[in-house]
Amino acid sequence: MDGYLTRRRHEQLRAQVRSFIAEEIRPRLPLKGIDARLDPTLIRRMARKGWVGLTIPKAYGGRGEGHVAKLIVTHEIARVSPGLAAELQACQLGLAGLLNLGSEHLKHKWLPRIAHGEILPTITVTGRDSGSHIKGITATAHRDGDEWTINGGKAWIGASHVADIHCVVLRTSEGTGDDCLTAFLVEAEREGVQPLQHQESVALEGFSFGEVHFTNCRIPDANRIGDVGEGEAVASSSSILYGRLNLGAVALGILEAILDAVVQHTTQRHLYGKPLIKHPVVNDQVGKIQANVTSARMLAYMAAHLLDRGEDADAELMTAKYQIAEQAVASATLAMEIFGAYSLFPDESPIAQLLLDAHAMRPPAGTPGIQRLRLGQQAAGLLKSDSWSRRFASPRHSGVLARLSGD
Ligand SMILES: Cc1cc2nc3c(=O)[nH]c(=O)nc-3n(C[C@H](O)[C@H](O)[C@H](O)COP(=O)(O)OP(=O)(O)OC[C@H]3O[C@@H](n4cnc5c(N)ncnc54)[C@H](O)[C@@H]3O)c2cc1C
Repeated sequence: MDGYLTRRRHEQLRAQVRSFIAEEIRPRLPLKGIDARLDPTLIRRMARKGWVGLTIPKAYGGRGEGHVAKLIVTHEIARVSPGLAAELQACQLGLAGLLNLGSEHLKHKWLPRIAHGEILPTITVTGRDSGSHIKGITATAHRDGDEWTINGGKAWIGASHVADIHCVVLRTSEGTGDDCLTAFLVEAEREGVQPLQHQESVALEGFSFGEVHFTNCRIPDANRIGDVGEGEAVASSSSILYGRLNLGAVALGILEAILDAVVQHTTQRHLYGKPLIKHPVVNDQVGKIQANVTSARMLAYMAAHLLDRGEDADAELMTAKYQIAEQAVASATLAMEIFGAYSLFPDESPIAQLLLDAHAMRPPAGTPGIQRLRLGQQAAGLLKSDSWSRRFASPRHSGVLARLSGD
């Protein structure tokens, strides 16, 4: 171990990301308006660096890096652009289900192209009608011989308008049984796939998240990910093993950006003849934000490290996502107070935008209410499902074996 839960290769990666930020991202900031949300230039450049496919095993053409590497890239980018980091992590989510439950045919066909940044995937689960209630999904897939016909709509899909393939979870049988959903890989160019008009959002500048509709879209059965009825497992393995840490990573970057802004402001602005930071109340507030950043870093790096070691880390992943997002919201609120009137004008300070960005980390990959629900169930021994990290991230899982054997 050469650094803080990192190795030398991780620190080399961090240096590469920082120089990309300086050369490619900073000169393009601020990323404002729908055109910036729909501009794929930066996400494609990041993908070609191999940052979408960091966790793809070498056996499938990837770099075989782990979750610590993914965390480093995501939070470093989020520190300057939470929207771009959100876009990057959304594409990483798209490959997770494929990696965990896809057939060898699908993995060999698509993972090398994702690893080389030729194509961008999405995870397409949420519908306006379902949200946290995944078994409430109404978009359907009906089997017709060796093909399926897909109909219905999906909402709030990260990278919806720039991606090349969608990992879609659909209803394949009635009711709310454990096997009512199935996952499919659907190419964005396929007939019957249509992204709807993009809406402006108040948060995450540069992040494309929107609606995708399917109308009598026909796909071969070979595009199915996992068995019929395994759709919830595809969605959960993606959300739990990738989503929770990814959103925690974006929230960590937001927290670091808040601290950067607060330190700059309180050391430069003078009141009563001295810098703001020299006033004990303000010093105390900055100390609280610093503590939030440090504890968020510890949570995120520890959870990523446990995943890379193949440990059972479900509770740590839940806690990291929940706590870091909440600490980001709390720190942004404190920063609003510290900045006073300056906080209300985007040209004067980034704080109001960061507050909105922090709030945007709450709904995806499990709302705060859902995380507390699951953690409470875990405390009382009431959690029904087996550990997802034990199932898919342990060295016994074929994807992990492929990574280890390629090392
Ligand atoms: C930035 C961002 C990126 C996203 N990216 C993607 C993506 O790439 N792909 C994708 O498929 N989706 C994506 N989503 C959608 C995301 O998955 C949903 O927002 C999430 O599932 C929550 O659904 P909802 O927003 O409809 O909230 P709801 O599920 O309607 O929840 C509303 C409120 O009810 C509470 N609640 C709901 N159920 C329970 C319960 N059982 N117990 C206690 N409280 C409960 C929640 O805690 C919340 O406070 C994204 C969303 C955002 C904001």
